[in-house]
Amino acid sequence: MNRFSYMRAGDVAGAVREISGNSAAQFIAGGTNLIDLMKENVTRPARLIDITRLPLSHIEETGNGGLRLGALVTNAETAYHPQIEERYPLLSRAILSGASAQLRNMATNGGNLLQRTRCYYFYDGATPCNKREPGTGCSAIEGFNRIHAVLGASDQCIAVHPSDMCVALAALDSVVHVTGNNGSRAIPFADFHRLPGDTPEVDTNLGRDEIITSIELPAKGFAEHYAYLKVRDRKSYAFALVSVAAALEMSGRTIAEARLALGGVAHKPWRDTQAEAVLNGKAATTENFQIVAEGVMRDAKGFTHNAFKIELAKRAIVRALKHAAQMGTRQ
Ligand SMILES: Cc1cc2nc3c(=O)[nH]c(=O)nc-3n(C[C@H](O)[C@H](O)[C@H](O)COP(=O)(O)OP(=O)(O)OC[C@H]3O[C@@H](n4cnc5c(N)ncnc54)[C@H](O)[C@@H]3O)c2cc1C
Ligand code: SF4
Repeated sequence: MNRFSYMRAGDVAGAVREISGNSAAQFIAGGTNLIDLMKENVTRPARLIDITRLPLSHIEETGNGGLRLGALVTNAETAYHPQIEERYPLLSRAILSGASAQLRNMATNGGNLLQRTRCYYFYDGATPCNKREPGTGCSAIEGFNRIHAVLGASDQCIAVHPSDMCVALAALDSVVHVTGNNGSRAIPFADFHRLPGDTPEVDTNLGRDEIITSIELPAKGFAEHYAYLKVRDRKSYAFALVSVAAALEMSGRTIAEARLALGGVAHKPWRDTQAEAVLNGKAATTENFQIVAEGVMRDAKGFTHNAFKIELAKRAIVRALKHAAQMGTRQ
């Protein structure tokens, strides 16, 4: 591990000042991803800015009926918060399907959004990786790519975003609040993470000087009809091969509104609003769910070891939608 200096920020303005003043500085929150990256020499910050004492660890009502999740609230506190369990159970389920109890106790909401890919080559300094070292090539495209992307990949990078929490946040149309040198701004969740394109080293649209302060959940939580389905190699403590967050607003057996987001298939939580809208006003039937699954995966492209994800994702979409639709009914 490289030598680095350490300081603890006392307020948000101070944290922004510190990060702006040193291009080799990085924030540290729970440290569950950053410390691993430092130990593997993937990231070499010269200065760590500890943000854990900032006043960003509350969950509170917003003026418009939603909830604001502080960036430093832990994943465990978020998942077990009574308001989240009652009004946003999809988010609770997604968080609890990830990592382990110990990790969720340390991991923060802001850190979860900014965790980096689990591509094996990204962590292996002996292999070329455009995300770790731009311009060196991508070892996964011709290598072992079982866990990689089937949607939205580029010829520079085929990595996937590993978060479960983010898949639910995408389906719920959340908003990320950030503060930087130019003040505060709100980023719609769909615009927060990026596809790899020609700059796979850039994961998000967060500015270099910006800190995540909170994540806002809109009033609509889809608590009556939802499902988070995570398909993985082990029952626990494993990242998703494919995951699906499904949320439905039902009027009898008719779907008034459908939301669908996928994890494990792309460089960002995958949302296809055009494809999901096909369900609006339709009956909750297997046939309609299959039509949507085909629509969402229409441009999917597999590589040597991961083509199975395309059919897996289609089946997971249908299963998650069925589960969401059937909640509260006797079938
Ligand atoms: C063994 C293991 C298994 C895991 N399994 C899963 C899983 O199944 N599903 C899943 O979703 N996740 C999983 N995780 C990932 C875990 O959820 C993340 O590591 C965690 O959420 C990161 O949060 P943190 O607070 O520890 O972030 P840190 O490690 O402290 O930081 C991560 C990054 O975010 C930046 N950062 C943190 N907070 C802010 C902020 N407020 N503003 C700006 N930048 C910030 C840091 O600078 C750093 O770049 C797993 C992790 C491990 C180690
Ligand atoms: S998929 Fe992306 S992260 Fe993985 S080796 Fe290729 S460039 Fe690196």
